[in-house]
Amino acid sequence: MLLKGMLKISTRAVSAARKAFDEGPWPKMTAYERSRILLRFADLVEKHSDELAALETWNNGKTYEQAAKTELPMFVRLFHYYAGWADKIHGLTVPADGDYHVQTLHEPIGVAGQIIPWNFPLVMFAWKVGPALACGNTIVLKTAEQTPLTALFVAKLFHEAGLPDGVLNVVSGYGPTAGAALASHMDVDKLAFTGSTDTGKVVLELAARSNLKPVTLELGGKSPFIICEDADVDKAVELAHFALFFNQGQCCCAGSRTFVHERVYDEFLEKSKKRALRRVVGDPFKKGVEQGPQIDVEQFEKVLRYIRSGIESHATLECGGDRLGSKGFFVQPTVFSNVQDDMLIAQDEIFGPVQSILKFKDIDEVIRRANKTRYGLAAGVFTKNVSTANTLMRALRAGTVWINCFDVFDAAIPFGGYKMSGIGREKGIYSLHNYLQVKAVVSPVKNPAWL
Ligand code: NAD
Repeated sequence: MLLKGMLKISTRAVSAARKAFDEGPWPKMTAYERSRILLRFADLVEKHSDELAALETWNNGKTYEQAAKTELPMFVRLFHYYAGWADKIHGLTVPADGDYHVQTLHEPIGVAGQIIPWNFPLVMFAWKVGPALACGNTIVLKTAEQTPLTALFVAKLFHEAGLPDGVLNVVSGYGPTAGAALASHMDVDKLAFTGSTDTGKVVLELAARSNLKPVTLELGGKSPFIICEDADVDKAVELAHFALFFNQGQCCCAGSRTFVHERVYDEFLEKSKKRALRRVVGDPFKKGVEQGPQIDVEQFEKVLRYIRSGIESHATLECGGDRLGSKGFFVQPTVFSNVQDDMLIAQDEIFGPVQSILKFKDIDEVIRRANKTRYGLAAGVFTKNVSTANTLMRALRAGTVWINCFDVFDAAIPFGGYKMSGIGREKGIYSLHNYLQVKAVVSPVKNPAWL
């Protein structure tokens, strides 16, 4: 019954998007008019920022402060950025054989199916919807089953901003039903997915088996964060702590393998442990709270299982290691030292507040070990030495390398993964390519002989 209901909703949403693309005004509107609607929408979101930040906290459990100060501004900035692009998308004149005039048209791809995860519901919405609309596509977006609230709220604001009917359709349903229906739908022209690597493989196959729609994938990670011997240890501790614990550790690009040079290892470890013990966990609406609950019981139990695995494989538990209190899905900020590369906690995405600290001796060794993972989403480097930074920046096999910073996500910066962390890039100019078709138009300069 539930399955049939969800399939029906997905199908109705795709029909609405199809009709809006084939018959509606959106792709035919001037790019300037599209840009104005995106700007009006961004203004409305700004006006409702407080409500939306509170709703995002209810949605996900992240702190209100984080939602209000980081994620809402990021959301608005992203729509400003793509509103700016809408009327600057154009093709080229191609210098081909002199007898022909050749130009390319950059056209919207059609109906975009978009599937997003629960860890950053609004931000993921923006990364997907902003570029797709700027290019003139219509959309069916499926939220994660855990976090439907804010996407539905902003969809209403889009309506208020003047987005024509059928252009953006938000479906809140389960993955194997609503999500799979979208990935395999013959009337969906493009699929953009963010979520786990396992599900990414499933949707890629569904897309291939149906109509071979192009797919972009933003998947999991196990990002190294490398603290070099010249690092200011206090600053490195704070940044490595942020790189891992931000958003309850539920970040695809979390710095979840903290590699520390042996010369600063002991001091770094002692101070990291103290920092984790000071982390304020509790009611995400309360001022000063740094960490709320994990998203749901499934993730909560998964994180605790990984902690047990770390203990069983003889990593040293420095602090934390259990649930916090007896109510809700709160996990103690946990630090493991003496972590070895082959331990599960150093290989799998834990997606929780569990920091794994590994010791290294020299740069060649850390490059080899940092790259020895099936993932390649991001990496961090902390050093004062320019040549060390340059060497690591080139050698690390990751879609983003943050040097002396972490989790910097401006709208203009492309984001995506090497290896099993994904296919394609989102944000920046790169994301526009995901939502455009290139048409070559060729015509003879003079009357050809056959006319
Ligand atoms: P998930 O793969 O379980 O779910 C992601 C989305 O896919 C959800 O909307 C879900 O309903 C849907 N889904 C599940 N099964 C499906 C199926 N068979 N067919 C179609 N859709 C299906 O991932 P999650 O637990 O929600 O999110 C956490 C994962 O997302 C982590 O691995 C994280 O690294 C990744 N992530 C990656 C990025 C990135 O930009 N690379 C960003 C955020 C999260």
